[in-house]
Amino acid sequence: MRAASGQLAEEGFIQVRPPVISSATDPGLRGAARAKVDFYGKPYYITASMNLHKQMLMPTLEKVYAICPCVRLEPPHSRETGRHLAEFAQIEIECARASMDDVMGVAERLVSKVVSDVATHCGKELEAVGAKPKKVKTPFQRLTHREAVERLRALGFGASYTKEIPWDGEKLLSMQFDQPFWITHYPDGSRGFYDKLDTTSLLDFDLVYPGGYGEAISGGEREHTPEGTRRQMRKTGIDPREFGWYLQMLGDGIPPSAGFGIGLERLTRWICELDHVYEAGPFTKLAGVYSA
Ligand code: AMP
Ligand code: MG
Repeated sequence: MRAASGQLAEEGFIQVRPPVISSATDPGLRGAARAKVDFYGKPYYITASMNLHKQMLMPTLEKVYAICPCVRLEPPHSRETGRHLAEFAQIEIECARASMDDVMGVAERLVSKVVSDVATHCGKELEAVGAKPKKVKTPFQRLTHREAVERLRALGFGASYTKEIPWDGEKLLSMQFDQPFWITHYPDGSRGFYDKLDTTSLLDFDLVYPGGYGEAISGGEREHTPEGTRRQMRKTGIDPREFGWYLQMLGDGIPPSAGFGIGLERLTRWICELDHVYEAGPFTKLAGVYSA
């Protein structure tokens, strides 16, 4: 967290405090439900990601980041993936008027900085968990979603050109690499409504860790018009009535932006070569398991 914060501060990002609860939070949660709380008799959601709120800050702060605790009621079988928690944290960034290439560059510098700081300062700790210090080479290789699906099909995995890549497919692909790599341009309708559409594909991306560790980052350019957002909400089965303040904000006008979130425990898991992301922090929670 210190290495990441230092790198982002150096690049001019301002740290903001994330909201704990809100009347609307990120619904783009592949199979996970949002956790509700009672707020003076009204339903509020515990933050699932800071996506919507980061956009709110674009007219004023322009470059922001937060270390954001997230709660997502993931399905119980997610416990088996080694990389799903029901409570975790993301380092989330957003940058006004940036392109996806711009923020992919921010991500590459962020991951490189964290990996090299850990290698420099945490030799003993890495040894204690039996992990080797990592070295990354940037820029990371890029595959489009189409190319990723083609590779998977060549490996005998029946991935779809019109859907996100399933967890087991992503793991299989990740086993073929020894450096982190990008998957870009997911198909329309397969991701959160806030990812910007460019004809038939989205201006978005995932970073995937090598060696079977799987997804590290999701991000993209944001749809920032109310019409475009309503259209993408319809396509992804989201009820616009749940996002009153958000659509009103887009109607009032905000600058276009791009951003991403990198899972903190998944980054730790990969660097420390841990079997399960549950081991990658003090207060992690697994789907459906009661714990402190
Ligand atoms: P998303 O926008 O849903 O892709 O989330 C952004 C990032 O947060 C992902 O790329 C992961 O690194 C991390 N993340 C998402 N869901 C979980 C989860 N259930 N457990 C741990 N990390 C997660
Ligand atoms: Mg994702």
